[in-house]
Amino acid sequence: MRRLALILLLFASAMVSSAVETTNYTCIVCGKGPLHGRIWLSKWGAVCGDCYRLENHCSLCGLPMRDGDNPAKTGDGRFICKFDRPNAVLDVGEAREVFTSTRRDLVELFGRGIALNFPDVTVNLFDVDYWSEKGREDGLHKFGFSYTRKSRKGNCTHEVVLLSGRLRAELAATAAHEYTHLWINEIHPTEHAIDGDTIEAICELSAYKLLESRSQPEQQQKILNNPYTHGEIKELVALEKENGMGYILNWVKNGSTTRLVSAAAARLAPVKPRTIASTNIPPPLPEALKLGGLLLDGQSRHAIINGMSFAAGETKSISLLDRVLSVRCREIHRNEAVLEIDGLLNFITLKIGEEKFVP
Ligand SMILES: [Zn+2]
Ligand SMILES: [Zn+2]
Repeated sequence: MRRLALILLLFASAMVSSAVETTNYTCIVCGKGPLHGRIWLSKWGAVCGDCYRLENHCSLCGLPMRDGDNPAKTGDGRFICKFDRPNAVLDVGEAREVFTSTRRDLVELFGRGIALNFPDVTVNLFDVDYWSEKGREDGLHKFGFSYTRKSRKGNCTHEVVLLSGRLRAELAATAAHEYTHLWINEIHPTEHAIDGDTIEAICELSAYKLLESRSQPEQQQKILNNPYTHGEIKELVALEKENGMGYILNWVKNGSTTRLVSAAAARLAPVKPRTIASTNIPPPLPEALKLGGLLLDGQSRHAIINGMSFAAGETKSISLLDRVLSVRCREIHRNEAVLEIDGLLNFITLKIGEEKFVP
């Protein structure tokens, strides 16, 4: 939402009047057409200048929405457009289905070793408000949370909460992460202290393998680029390739070191206190380049990349999570832009709504 506000601001200040020129675009929000003047080309189609200025936008794709559109809405007031609605998870029943199928897939992938001894898991869906109420400084940046209560007899009660209004494929990755936490909570002996980053990396690896089995390489790349585990995920991916997941799961049960990767390979990251509860935190800055849409105004064309407006030939700096890129917009076509990145030999072509990681 914040990025969207930024885009709107950008355009409010960059407004230029131009000769009226009719196109063959029709607004997918209000149906008006053929359009002329300022046109926003979104992932789903053209949007007229009037609709572009509407107050409410889809929290997943940024598409503006009219009052009469009756869009899906999360409990905390985030809108989901009709195009994203079929793939967004808004009710707890759906969330439970995603969790159950994810869990089944993990057992299929890694074997019965990752099944829970105490199989009952309470899954709930929560809104952003829930996280804010927790009063954590990164309150708005939570996708999931898991908790295991252990009785004195050693019985476990498992609980998972997932953020509402996310796309099913992304929710499944979070579900895999949280499920793996439950398994670790249940299985690992108290005398085997495990470093916090290592626990998170194992849970991320689980999500990574799930995405691999579902052929979602872009989502896998997101996991690799997330600095959440201080780089440990990359080492675990390499370790898994060599030794298999069974090796890693066995280490949780029977290992004695606090870290799985060798001390030499491990970065000297500050050790976080280990807690039984977990969070799955998205990073504050984007990790990839995304073409949000194109803005057409008569003869002028602008590509909106990570919320910044680029004319063809224009170069700007874009801050990503782990670096700042100098990006030159080489060409803008009907539904894509070709980018030249400083220090990179190959051009990157982005379609509208597409996100790509820069190697
Ligand atoms: Zn319109
Ligand atoms: Zn949408």
